[in-house]
Amino acid sequence: MLVFRTLEMLKADFANGKEVLRPDEYLNNGLPYCKKCKQPRWYVSDDNLFAIRGLCKCQEEQRMQQQQIELKQKRMIEFNNRQKLSLLGDRYKNIMFENAIITQSNVDIYNKARIYVQKSNVMLDNNIGLYIYGDNSSGKTFLTACMCNELVWKGYRCVYTNLANILNEIRASYDGKGLGVCELLRKLNTYDFAFIDDLGKEFIGREYNPKNSKWAEEKFFEILNSRYNAKKPIIFSSNYLIGELITVLGLDKAIVERINEMSTRVIKLEGDDFRQRARAEKSELAKKLGI
Ligand SMILES: [Zn+2]
Repeated sequence: MLVFRTLEMLKADFANGKEVLRPDEYLNNGLPYCKKCKQPRWYVSDDNLFAIRGLCKCQEEQRMQQQQIELKQKRMIEFNNRQKLSLLGDRYKNIMFENAIITQSNVDIYNKARIYVQKSNVMLDNNIGLYIYGDNSSGKTFLTACMCNELVWKGYRCVYTNLANILNEIRASYDGKGLGVCELLRKLNTYDFAFIDDLGKEFIGREYNPKNSKWAEEKFFEILNSRYNAKKPIIFSSNYLIGELITVLGLDKAIVERINEMSTRVIKLEGDDFRQRARAEKSELAKKLGI
């Protein structure tokens, strides 16, 4: 039979030295209390069947704090692991919405991007993709990298890549390196959100290499269809309007139609020319220094 210790037995144990008072405790009516918060350091069950040592208020708080720290560390480790998976380059690894320079011309789109992240579960469930376009230096990559990091922080599996990288991986698979096409497509579909940066760049000057370009188009269509069938969203960013993918770059109409279908919302990022701004700031600094 199990022997329980009643409150009286606990008191007796403190009296006979079986239980030792700790330096930050004092005895009150034969039982230990915390010197700091004056709360009991013992616990007794309602039916007085067992009495044990317990935590006082400050110990409880300390325990909670420790738990919070461990939880934070765990979250950070998981975030770093998922981030490695996302393939985002080092340059964009640590940027979040709070790092963005919000201007009159980009405030709207940043608000939209925030809503997208806030409602990410709805976006994912309904397969809502985006097509973000704007000039070369409008900050598309910065914006989409922010979104990617925020989603990763929320616990989603994201991939941030561009068509050239995917095509390179497919090419490598022909030499027996890397993943095969099927495996690659399967892997791409394991990500909740896929970001395809700078869409269209691969097809500039395609007339000089029509065969290669045709192949790239075919593979791209396979990638699109694969995610489309898996009902998983893509966030595209591009210098081109969707229509320009046909008129300027000569992409196949079927591909562009699929992109259009997958881009639930098409958003223009107005240029602030951040590179120009950075250059001007540097130039000012150099001037100040007398150069
Ligand atoms: Zn205490």
